[in-house]
Order: sequence, then C-alpha cells, then structure tokens
Amino acid sequence: MNILGKVTVLPKLPAAIGRLSELAYNLYWSWEPRACSLYRDLNPDIWETYGHNPVRTLLEVGSEDMDRAATDPEFVRRYGEVMAEFDAYMGKQDTWASRHAADLKPVAYFSMEYALHESLPIYSGGLGVLAGDHCKSASDLGLPFTPVGLLFHDGYFRQTLGRDGWQEEKYDRLDLTTLPIRPIRTPEHDELRISLEIGGRTVTARVWQLNVGRIRMLLLDTDVPENHPDDRLLTSRLYGGDQEMRLKQYMLLGIGGVRALRAAGAPAEVWHMNEGHAGLLNLERIRERVEQGLDFRTAHELTAGSTLFTTHTPVPAGNDAFSWDLMDRYLGSWPAQLHTTREHLYSLARSEAMEDHGPAFNMTVFSLRMSRMANGVSKLHGQVSRDMWKHLYPGLYPEEVPIGHVTNGAHNLSFTSQRMRDLLSTVMPEDWTERLHEPEIWQNVEQLSGAQLAGVQREMKAEMIAFVRHHQREMLLRNGAGAAELAYTDTLLSPDVLTIGFARRFATYKRATLLLRDRERLSRIVNHPERPVQFVFAGKAHPADNPGKALIQEIYRVSQLPEFRGKIVILENYDMHVARRLVQGVDVWMNNPRRPLEASGTSGMKASFNGSPNFSVLDGWWVEGHLEGNANGWPIGEEREYADQAVQDDADAFSLYQTLEQTIVPLYYGERGGEADSWAGVVRSAIESVSARFSMQRQVIDYVQCYYLPLSARRNLLVPGGGQRARELAEWKAWIANQWPQVSVAASHHLPATAEPGEQVQITAQVNPGRIAAEELRAEVVLRRGHRVERVPMQRREDGEYAATVALERSGMYEVGVRLYPYLPDLSHDFELGLVKWA
Ligand SMILES: *Cc1c(COP(=O)(O)O)cnc(C)c1O
Repeated sequence: MNILGKVTVLPKLPAAIGRLSELAYNLYWSWEPRACSLYRDLNPDIWETYGHNPVRTLLEVGSEDMDRAATDPEFVRRYGEVMAEFDAYMGKQDTWASRHAADLKPVAYFSMEYALHESLPIYSGGLGVLAGDHCKSASDLGLPFTPVGLLFHDGYFRQTLGRDGWQEEKYDRLDLTTLPIRPIRTPEHDELRISLEIGGRTVTARVWQLNVGRIRMLLLDTDVPENHPDDRLLTSRLYGGDQEMRLKQYMLLGIGGVRALRAAGAPAEVWHMNEGHAGLLNLERIRERVEQGLDFRTAHELTAGSTLFTTHTPVPAGNDAFSWDLMDRYLGSWPAQLHTTREHLYSLARSEAMEDHGPAFNMTVFSLRMSRMANGVSKLHGQVSRDMWKHLYPGLYPEEVPIGHVTNGAHNLSFTSQRMRDLLSTVMPEDWTERLHEPEIWQNVEQLSGAQLAGVQREMKAEMIAFVRHHQREMLLRNGAGAAELAYTDTLLSPDVLTIGFARRFATYKRATLLLRDRERLSRIVNHPERPVQFVFAGKAHPADNPGKALIQEIYRVSQLPEFRGKIVILENYDMHVARRLVQGVDVWMNNPRRPLEASGTSGMKASFNGSPNFSVLDGWWVEGHLEGNANGWPIGEEREYADQAVQDDADAFSLYQTLEQTIVPLYYGERGGEADSWAGVVRSAIESVSARFSMQRQVIDYVQCYYLPLSARRNLLVPGGGQRARELAEWKAWIANQWPQVSVAASHHLPATAEPGEQVQITAQVNPGRIAAEELRAEVVLRRGHRVERVPMQRREDGEYAATVALERSGMYEVGVRLYPYLPDLSHDFELGLVKWA
C-alpha cells in the first residue's frame, strides 16, 4: 500500500449544538462532568469505546446522533447551560490573581508528565496528576501561567493482567488528530518548529498547544519527517528508555522547552521546575544571557534568582544522576557556549556523598544549585529533604537547609463526583467552586444529614461496583475465560459491604501487599458473618520493576483463592478514570507506604473530597491531615521510624488489622455505643477537614505567596540595567569566595556545664576578616535545642571583637556555637554563598 498522506474530515455539527467542537479543545470539560456528559450522550458506546475523548467522539458519531441531540430540547438546554458557564469561566476578569497577586510575573512551569484526563495518557502517576492539577488550579485562579511538557506518542503504557495476574504493557500509538491539541502556527501559518542539538544532530520539534481552561500548555513533539529516525522516537514513551534516552528527553524538555516558550511568544519571568527532570532548562536560560553579553556568573545569578525547584521524592531512583562520560557526549559543547569550564559546570551538579560509581551529574543537585528557592511537597517531606541534601550545605544544621515545603493538594472538581457536587451545592455558597480553599465555607457540610450523605455514597458505590464488574469481565473475556467465570463477575463485590480501596503505583515502598501479611486474620475480617469487608486494588508497576509486578501478581492470586474470591478484586490499568471511580465509590481509602518514603500522596485527598475517610500510615500529607481523636479517618502504625523493615512491616500490619477490626468495622456497621450517626460524623469531618486544606487551590496559592511572588520581586531586583545588581552580586560572591580562606573566627566564653533557666551567658568572638569589610560579615551565636535552632546576632564592638549575651530560657540540653558568614542585604537567604565558618 502506498499511503500518500492522511486527511481528517472534521465533523459538521448542527448549529444548535455547534460549539461542542470548540469546547472539545479545552480541557475545561475534564473537571466538569456535565460538559463530558454532553459528549457521552451523543453516543454512549462511542464515548466508552474511545476512552471518554470528546474530540474523538465528535469524529466518530454519525449525523443521526448529532441531529437527534440537536433536536432534543433537554439536550440543547443542558448544552446552553454548559456553554454559558464555560463562557463565564473563560471571560472572568475578577479572578483571585487579579485581586491578590497583581505583582505576579508570568510563570513558566516545566514537568515531564501531566495527568489531565485519561484520554491523554502522557502521565504515569502522582507526579503527573500533581502537575495536571496545578495547571487546572492556575487556570481557576487566573494566574499568568504557561506549562511546558512533552507529547508522548505512545504515552505511558496501558496495563493488562494475564491469566496468571502478571502485568503486561501495551503501548497504543496516539492518533494526534483525535486529541484536543493543535499545532502552534507561525504568522505565515506554518507549523511552529524549534530545534536543538542532541548528540551531534539537530533535532527539530513541533510545538502543540493544549488549552487547559484559561491557560495554554505547550507540548513538544519530535516525531516530524525532517528528524533522523532515532530522534523521532524521543517523544515516544514516557520513562520508557535507558539513561541515555532519559538524558536526551531532559534536554528536549529543558532546552527545547525554553525555545518553545520563546518561539510561541509566551511570557516567562518566574520559572518552576516540577522535579529535577526539567533542570537543564537553566542551561538554555544562561546561554541566552551569555549571548546577550553577560558572563556566566551573572547569567547564573539572574537565572537562579527567578527559579523555583520542587523535589518530589526521597527514593533514590527518583533522583537521576548521569555519568560524566554520558554528559560529555551530549552536553560537551555547553560549557564553551556558556563561557564556563566543564569542571565548573559539572561541579554544580555534583554530590560526592551520593556517588557510588564515579563522578555523576545529579539532576536534583543541579536543580538545587540553579534555583534560589526550593521546596518539598509536605511538611514531613520538607524535613526529609533537608536531611537528605544537608551535605550540600556544609556549616548548616539540617533544619536550616534552605528547602521549604508546600503540602500538595488535589484539584477538587476533577475528582469529586457530580452527585456529591450536587449535594454540596445545596448547602454551600453559590460561588463555592471558586472558593474551594476557604475552610469556612466547608463548615456548611455540617448541615448535611447522615441520610443525605449515605444516599450519595450508596449510589456512587453502586456505580463503582457496576464499573468493577464490567472491567473484570472485559479482562476475563480477553484472557479467554469460560462462561461460568464470566457470569461470576456479576456477583463481584456487594453494595452492602464496607468497601476499602487501595490504588497507586506499585512501587515496592508502597507495600501493596501489607494487607496480606496474615491471611487467616484477613480471611476472618473479609468473611465476618455480620460485618464483612471487601477490598478493591488497582495500580501499575513500572515496566522494569519486576518486584512491583510480583506484588500485583500476589494480590491477583490471593483474590482467586476461594475464601477471597469476589471480595478482594484487583483491577487492571489504573488510570485517571479508574482513580475517579474508586475514590468516589469506596467507603474507606487505604494507604500503607513505608514511612517516610511517601513524599505526599494525593489519592487520599481525592477520596476525602467524596466523603471517604482515610486509613493510612502517618506519612506524607496524612500526618498533617489526620485529626486528633480519629475524627476524619485513622492512622496505620505509629509516627516513628524503624531501623529494620521487617519489624516495621509487622508492626504496621498488626496495627492495620487491629484498627480495622476494632474501630473501623464496628463504626461502619453502626455498633459503637448505639450512635447511629457516628459514621456520618467521620464522613462529614473527612470532607470538611480535607477539602480546603488539601485543595489544589490552596496549594497553588501557597506557591504564589511563598515562591512566585518573592521570585517576581527578586527578578525585579536583579534584571534591570542589563542585570546590574545580578552582576554586582556575582562579582561580590566571587571575590568573597577568594578571600574566604584567609578569614578566621575564634570564640571565648564562660559556658557553665549547667545553668538555671533564664541564665545569661556572655560570648565573644575574635574575627580576622582578611580583606572583607566588617559590614559584609556577620557573626552569630547558634543555640540548638532538640530540633530548634536559635540564632543570636553578635555585635561588633569598638575594639573589633564581636559579642553577644544569650539567655538560656528553657531547660534542656543546648548545643552552643559561634559562626561567621558573609552577608549582603540582597541575598535570597543568609547562606546563599554556602560559606560558613564555625569558631
Ligand atoms: C491521584 C493519582 C495518583 C497519585 O496518588 P498517590 O496517593 O500519590 O499514590 C496516581 N495515579 C492516578 C491515576 C491518580 O489519579
């Protein structure tokens, strides 16, 4: 066959519903179930067959379906309502950002993956969901915001389970004409292209535009005819290749991403790297400045001064490091382009403490050094990250490492069922969907009766069970099951039974099989004659993660045992659709990672939006979200660390069974003290306590206030006059670094071995400043008591000595020290230079 080319015939929509095609190209529908239902109702079979894709649905439905909808007054009325709301949303001028963040500079956001909807499979898990949700709330809040990513033609894999429960991976080639994306075009109407050098070849990328509400996402795609066949595969699979492929993809995302922004005319002044994958964007931004005539140091200062880095995982595999050999092959020309040396550039990405196999370019280290602000994704993860990276900040206590935190959130509307939204609307203020982050409005949930909540939850559970049965049936059909086995799917799960959900990536630290540790006990719980419990599992393992796949298989096998059949189910192909079904349909959401490896987790938040309490290890967000007295859910295990994993697993499993049997089950079945409303109390509290605090809206507002606005201000400080202030800072830092070896500090004190509370101690220090001016040095006394670090500035006296009087206010053991560091008012924080000398 000789195919000349492809042509897509666009649907001709009847005028009465004519704007459905416009709406299909805006992901607005992904968080408005009523918008989706318009496409579904054109033809439900097509809608299901093509994975809930509005663009595809419009291409597939026949004119009879269109005409029927266009002449159905009810459909046209719903259409009118949805379009009116869409227009109001798109046209809104009075947004949160216009009121609260007028000084915000345009933000560029880089992420390797985005989970916006199941029909656009360019995500693997939590990181992608977080990025997708961040974009949605940035749109809701009206931020000037442009996300950048890659368009993976084979997406992430579709998971199937074979007859033996072993995961298989299928990559479906995306048909781009059926996606809600359009190529960006030049004024001459050509497709926009950018190019960059990768491994000695020029690689070209097409830039697609994806509308997410009010914002425009840019997606790069190298599958264009002018590229070498190997380079066309760069945007084939997410996390699919080896180290080399990864590095090439990071170059494309970082370097290509900056070029795409520029070429598309998207303004960008504040830069947010969502994980270290995007770290190489700094190379291109420095190169741009060097090309304008700035030196490397000044360019680095400018670039870092407007950049935020978010780290997402303490798991080593999540922190890529590339050998210098590999770097030389791909980035060999960059030091010269940046007017610096290979040694200097690579030193910015080096962490000798973490190297097992020779010198490496660590993306996390590089990203930390290339940004003046950094954060983890929950309070605990902030702490874990400071500890993990403290060796990069010698002279500081872990508590002082400049990595803060913003606790993750989830995009409420994308995951809350329409039924729950309808119910909430009966008690919430009219504009509640714009005020999701305000805790006060959620107090209205108290007005909902137990019966109302139970009613919605019963319906959602019934829908989920129908979905599970259908899903399992499809799997069995594909695996060649017989009639009896197929018929059996109609009896899977019971709507009257307490249902617990567990779904996430099957990374081993998430311990998916913890529940199975004591099968006899589990069997008693599941098969209790009056108060049974059933479980639904789902999740993908990374294709290269055989231990993760073995966990899936183990759950599958257990689910086939006579005592668990129909009561423990594992669904294949966990994606956003399965996620929505589960978080909306189960009674309790379970999570049992090995603390403290879950940086945040977000699926539990989504469950709580729908009134499903969490039953979870006190890790990630749940440490913060869990209320005293288990009012909104329950902990698994204790808030502590273990030296031995087996001991930890045993302790957590024991706690899991114990709480389930003694607390959750009796409460659900209403047997505790005859309090009929006690379960409803937990449900209300789950919604009320989680919806605002863990809304993506709250998260994005935190980012704006803690990072985007300060970086906007910093940019205003550094950029004017051709980077005047940045140059001064850079020169000053270089000079100080040079002088620093000559500087010394010695302290004298009369520290008593014991002291009374409130006792004062006089401490003096003798400083040899070398050639550094006195006002550019700061000496301080540092008191550390437990995890609290207190800093007391020392005054410079006439005679050149430094002195301070410190009061030991509270009883306990103090570590007392004196240290010296260089100081200038315009630093982003006191230890920006990384130079600290202790007496
Ligand atoms: C929310 C979500 C995740 C992340 O959930 P965790 O709690 O972080 O495991 C992963 N995958 C999908 C499809 C999701 O919707």
